[in-house]
Amino acid sequence: MEQTNSIGIDRYAVFGNPIKHSRSPQIHTAFAAQTGQRLSYRTQLVELGGFASAAREFFDGGGKGLNITVPFKLDAFAFATELSGRAKRAGAVNTLAAQGDGSIYGDNTDGVGLVRDIEQNLAWEIAGKRLLLLGAGGAVRGILEPLLKRHPALVVVANRSVDKAQQLAREFADLGEVRGCSYEALVGNRYDLLINGTSAGLRGEMPPLPEDIIGDGCCCYDLTYGAAPTPFMRWAASEAAWAVADGLGMLVEQAAESFCIWRGVRPATRPVIEMLRASLVG
Ligand code: NDP
Repeated sequence: MEQTNSIGIDRYAVFGNPIKHSRSPQIHTAFAAQTGQRLSYRTQLVELGGFASAAREFFDGGGKGLNITVPFKLDAFAFATELSGRAKRAGAVNTLAAQGDGSIYGDNTDGVGLVRDIEQNLAWEIAGKRLLLLGAGGAVRGILEPLLKRHPALVVVANRSVDKAQQLAREFADLGEVRGCSYEALVGNRYDLLINGTSAGLRGEMPPLPEDIIGDGCCCYDLTYGAAPTPFMRWAASEAAWAVADGLGMLVEQAAESFCIWRGVRPATRPVIEMLRASLVG
């Protein structure tokens, strides 16, 4: 299959709805410049229910790869003709890549992006720590396997709809000690690393956490990011967390993993995180 457009530039895009806010073109354009790769990357607003036909048109037209964001990660999972192990576990795909034989490879790079940001950029530890994950939606499902593979002492998943947290705990129980519970059930326990995987922050809200769950030296990470600290980050700082971070580093790290799948080259992420941070606050 012809994989380039008429002027020979490999084409990539991110599909979502909404999509205007996406930082992916900025990130991948920076990666391409840094690594000397010739490619184009754009956003595409896809209508609800229209993912498969839009993706088919993109790949039939010679497109090389896609990132997929809300709400199409399950559609992308169904669209892929070949899946990575971590995509199968996550039940969701955020990266599609056209292969030479015409098949479409699907992967999920969110979790590995988070783990890289936590361990390499922030130098926080996961191994041996007591982890509390807030939320039980697509993002938490995607990060569970990579986190469990770092051998934490315990992972607790707390969610408003408790059944979803318990279901996730059952699905991932073969990879380590995972428990699902309500927010109320957290009372009396302390954790070393809190990860907010709820979408509460997008509406300026905060998951209903009890007091005194922050242990000594506790680090708090919010998957959500923005120009200002999120409500969860502000709460963590007020509870005297040892360190607090947002999900901008994860965003860049998951993009770097996608870029590596597509181009076979790993870009340096730190300068891109710094560039993005400056453009967010600037
Ligand atoms: P989903 O819609 O799949 O799940 C949302 C989760 O948030 C559910 O568990 C829901 O609980 C919970 N929730 C929503 N509002 C509240 C509230 N007010 N109080 C408590 N819990 C609440 O979303 P995703 O999992 O896809 O995304 C979650 C967040 O992660 C988003 O903010 C997204 O932007 C971010 N994200 C960041 C990435 C990055 O690269 N930095 C990558 C992927 C996601 P319930 O089940 O009870 O409704």
